[in-house]
Amino acid sequence: MSRRYVYEFGGGKADGSAGMKELLGGKGANLAEMANLGIPVPPGFTITTEMCNYYYQHNKLYPPDLETEVRQALADVEAIMGAKFGDPENPLLLSVRSGARSSMPGMMETVLNVGLNESTIKGLIAKTGNARFAYDAYRRLIMMYSDVVMEKAAGVEPKEGKGVRLQLEHAMEKMKKARKIVQDTDLTAADLKELIGIFKAKVKQVLGKEFPDDPYEQLWGGIGAVFQSWNGKRAVAYRRIEGIPDEWGTAVTVQSMVFGNMGDRSATGVAFTRNPATGEDVFYGEWLVNAQGEDVVAGIRTPNPLNVLNKTDDTKHLKSLEEAMPGLYNQLAGIRNRLEQHYRDMQDIEFTIQEGRLWMLQTRVGKRNGPAAVKAAVDMQKQGLIDEATAVLRVRPAQLDELLHDMLDPAAEKTARVLAKGLPAGPGGGSGQVVFTAEAADKWAKAGKKVILVRSETSPEDVHGMHVAEAILTAKGGMTSHAALVARGWGKCCIVGCSALDIDTGKKLMKVGGKTIKEGDWISLNGSIGRVYDGKIPTAKPDLEANKEYTQLMQWADKFRKLGIRTNADRPQDAAQARAFGAEGIGLTRTEHMFFGPERIMPMREMIIAENEKDRRKAVMKLLPFQRKDFKGILEAMQGLPVTIRLLDPPLHEFVTLDEKQTKQLAKQLGIKVENLKARIDSLHELNPMLGHRGCRLGIAYPEITEMQARAIFEAAADLTKKGIKVFPEVMVPLVGSAAEFNNQEAIIRRMAAEVMEKKGVKFDYLVGTMIEIPRAALTADDIAKTAEFFSFGTNDLTQTTFGFSRDDVGGFLPIYIEKKILPEDPFQSLDETGVGQLVEMGTKKGRSTRPDLKVGICGEHGGDPKSIDLCHRVGMNYVSCSPYRVPIARLAAAHAALNNK
Ligand code: PEP
Ligand code: MG
Repeated sequence: MSRRYVYEFGGGKADGSAGMKELLGGKGANLAEMANLGIPVPPGFTITTEMCNYYYQHNKLYPPDLETEVRQALADVEAIMGAKFGDPENPLLLSVRSGARSSMPGMMETVLNVGLNESTIKGLIAKTGNARFAYDAYRRLIMMYSDVVMEKAAGVEPKEGKGVRLQLEHAMEKMKKARKIVQDTDLTAADLKELIGIFKAKVKQVLGKEFPDDPYEQLWGGIGAVFQSWNGKRAVAYRRIEGIPDEWGTAVTVQSMVFGNMGDRSATGVAFTRNPATGEDVFYGEWLVNAQGEDVVAGIRTPNPLNVLNKTDDTKHLKSLEEAMPGLYNQLAGIRNRLEQHYRDMQDIEFTIQEGRLWMLQTRVGKRNGPAAVKAAVDMQKQGLIDEATAVLRVRPAQLDELLHDMLDPAAEKTARVLAKGLPAGPGGGSGQVVFTAEAADKWAKAGKKVILVRSETSPEDVHGMHVAEAILTAKGGMTSHAALVARGWGKCCIVGCSALDIDTGKKLMKVGGKTIKEGDWISLNGSIGRVYDGKIPTAKPDLEANKEYTQLMQWADKFRKLGIRTNADRPQDAAQARAFGAEGIGLTRTEHMFFGPERIMPMREMIIAENEKDRRKAVMKLLPFQRKDFKGILEAMQGLPVTIRLLDPPLHEFVTLDEKQTKQLAKQLGIKVENLKARIDSLHELNPMLGHRGCRLGIAYPEITEMQARAIFEAAADLTKKGIKVFPEVMVPLVGSAAEFNNQEAIIRRMAAEVMEKKGVKFDYLVGTMIEIPRAALTADDIAKTAEFFSFGTNDLTQTTFGFSRDDVGGFLPIYIEKKILPEDPFQSLDETGVGQLVEMGTKKGRSTRPDLKVGICGEHGGDPKSIDLCHRVGMNYVSCSPYRVPIARLAAAHAALNNK
């Protein structure tokens, strides 16, 4: 049998199921699932994502069988609905909608009311007894279809302001003006009938083609337009940001129409089974009486709260569905419970009530921000819906960033001037300069400015500007408007439906709260309570310890993970912060940062400039007390947890970048001639310093540096041990490429340890190990591990040396490489598994072949990247080490790695 392209649903059964998202798209798969559950969905069928790929591979043509499959499916829908597509007496109308594997809110096209024409309209009027409704449906079809199918999908690119939809909107405005009315709903049946004639003439005039009267032509036009919209600008931009592959394709769902705009017993709405901004277990949503779904999501009318609990000060005067239609609300609330019990996850649903009958149009996993993801996951475990492992996997590690996110400084917020209030669509605080277009947001952000994007309506076309903005503010729209969904998905501070804004995009200003705010003026938002403030307000981090669900989730994560989590810290206060976040040790202390203080740089320079060992040793010893104090602080902060201290690494030239005046001053202080000093500094200059005299090469050339550092570490350890404070230093040699290099340094370090212990009369444990950050070290790891007691992969340098890309100069060509798909992503952010990953795996294996208990970790930037952490888990490392603020992310990512690789 040839491949099947069409899957039906409706009438209490379906061909597909929720597990078939790859083939049917999220919408198609879930409609099938709901039909199977006996939940009322309007019947229909889904054309698969494979057809989307076929369409693009075959010059936008379909296989011959598709038409037969569609006709058969349509006949089945007709049988369930007791109406016929294109029948002048009893017409069936259809919606044609997109649906990718993962939701892309508002990024693709939809056509509604397909099947209306000059003869079926009569049938619709007779059937509903509502001429106004029928003509309104027809005019909506013409507007949508001419825009989506005849213009966009046909590749017509109208001049600014000349698009067909806009021209039709003008025609409608003109009629409203002539009739002296304001609301669309005040147009009568006769008005709308006349408007249809005007619309058709306008379509012909603008696009040079008749509006199609044949229902099948409309249907196939709609199907093609959805496939076309997969490669539309908005969809492509969204895929790039979200990392969705082009090959996934979209499915097309064709479904019988149900109408929320047939009068006061009809309605439409969108809801979440829990609050998507906080995670609270409260049925949460919005609805509009006598409206179509697009009216809610497009943000044209600010919708009513779904139930009494959802009411806020701003919406308390609006009637909830719970109050207006209690029976139907209860039915909907029952479906909410069923869906949560069935899917065991928070759902985002769309519904329509047609003349007192409830229909479900969609269910999908609800997008939620970080705080809501944590709360919902922990609550659901407590409610017995999911187990601990599932709860841990429900929160993406990067989402934790939002719990660490900035909030407005509460004291400053109290005294700030409130300009307006809106709906709290995305929590957190944001402060920035106002811009009124996505383009401006993009431009200003690229120039390093913090911006707040202010728009009248939330539109999916703004995604690129929204992405770079600190926060988003809109005048219209509800909590479930497209842009609010998108912003929340990214965990961005966002306020919508702020009706007090009077925006003039052309003039780049807005009037609000008795003030005129121009482009570039500062405002601040509190997205958790929906307040807009005048001016700049400092932002501050939230209190994680008070978040019970977070603490619980992290406890579970710690139970599942196999990797240890350490931090990269050079100062006691950073080490303490990291410990508070759950770090179990320090994976990297970069000692070079300790030489830049005003009283330290001088002896450092003296040491560098010294021309013989005696002078050098004298200068080095001046540094000893400083270093000892630094190491004491860090070792003490970590209370016996392992602390990896790396010996001096950077090229010495970095410490003597001096201008003329400073050179003279230094010469004077050192008591040498300026020319001699200059000559010495010049001699340190290297063409490729990152591949030059740095790392262990320094300690080999100047053993006194290694001696001093090792002595400082061990004296600090000895002093603390004497005081009864536990310590566990691990001395790390950088940039080793051979066992001989390591052995040379190891001998010095061990000698110093013995001397210090002897002199101070105490004993403590310590290790001596090395960084693996040169390919040759990975290749000869078995040899190096004979003496090295631990390895720490320095993947910053290892990436640099494996690719041969200078880590300091990669910015010049990396964006081009990514754009041209030569590299999938920045290898300095996410570890290159195919290349560098092989060296990491090989280094670990070879090292453990000679020393089975070799401790292995990572301390490059990749140690805080969830994808790289998965690789670290798979190669069997003991720990990852990352910056303090990434510690929670690393803990969760390590748990994910353990659970996903079981
Ligand atoms: C590394 O190279 O990965 C590393 C941690 O060292 P640095 O970044 O200091 O060179
Ligand atoms: Mg390095």
